[in-house]
Amino acid sequence: MTSSVRDRLGRPLGSLRVSVTDRCNMRCSYCMPEAEYEWLPRAQILTFEEITRLVGVFAGLGVAKVRLTGGEPLLRHDLDQLVRMIHANRRVTDQALTTNGVLLAQHAARLKAAGLGRVTVSLDTLRPDRMERFARTARHADVLAGIGAAQGAGFDRLKINTVVVRGFNDDELGDLIEFARARDAEVRFIEYMDVGGATRWSLDRVVSQREVLDRLGHRYGSITAITGDDPHAPAERFALPDGTTFGIIASTTAPFCRACDRSRITADGQWLLCLYAESGVDLREPLRSGASDDALAAVITAGWEGRTDRGAEARLAVPEREPLYRVSGLRADPHREMHTRGG
Ligand code: SAM
Repeated sequence: MTSSVRDRLGRPLGSLRVSVTDRCNMRCSYCMPEAEYEWLPRAQILTFEEITRLVGVFAGLGVAKVRLTGGEPLLRHDLDQLVRMIHANRRVTDQALTTNGVLLAQHAARLKAAGLGRVTVSLDTLRPDRMERFARTARHADVLAGIGAAQGAGFDRLKINTVVVRGFNDDELGDLIEFARARDAEVRFIEYMDVGGATRWSLDRVVSQREVLDRLGHRYGSITAITGDDPHAPAERFALPDGTTFGIIASTTAPFCRACDRSRITADGQWLLCLYAESGVDLREPLRSGASDDALAAVITAGWEGRTDRGAEARLAVPEREPLYRVSGLRADPHREMHTRGG
């Protein structure tokens, strides 16, 4: 079912990404490169009951897809309880998790039992030394164990997210495809985006969809575009000559704003209508001051009906493109951080 709530460009209120924490146990240089961060005050973080209630209101408006993210969502204690609470809502037919995988091995089976349907693990490199330099963590083996555990737990369609950064991991594209293929997973190459915390972004470090296809074509031969997928999905999917599939999320060089049906809630209840949005709608305040579900639904409906955002397209039109924010701008409002708004 598609929501009947439409924005000003006719885009339905679609999948909801819920950031359950702004904390992370990695420091990827394209997301959290700084030494210090401003964290959201603990008292403002939504409880599981509050998140479940908000998800219920969105589901009542036709949202069937929910993805838990962060920060690193598995840092939130007892996340399987939240999964179970959301799973109890029969309108939510697709509940997924995006994780860096460090803690996944110890949680995969419990998350599956609680009703989690799908998992995406972020993995940018197969080389532990590169991960250590680029993401300041020595836990590469734990990530691989997490991927193995997710596979063993029997989630549908395991995905691997890889942000491609020139000079860091752009020589591993084929190896990552092979890695995913061996695990019955699908890799999705993500173009490096100039979002929130990406203060070290520069256009010359972006490896475009075109270049990824050229390089893979060189190694594997002719690549075919897959058609007929969900028109709102961010990834375009492709097949190698042997049928192995992979995706590319070309948010930087070929944005898909026209089809974007996603919104996201930060861990403290700000509702953002675009990954690039300067600010969002505060849902925590009405939630905590006793608003009814109908009143919350009215706030959400009005917000979505006024939506005109096409943030990635607007960025594409910027002539001398630089990072969206400097550190001072992120400190002034940590809601601008990718790890706060949930990637
Ligand atoms: N910690 C979890 C993880 O690593 O998957 C969830 C949050 S993370 C912000 C979600 C996704 O955003 C990850 O796949 C990450 O690689 C991606 N991401 C973060 N910064 C990005 C950037 N500047 N460009 C493209 N993707 C980015």
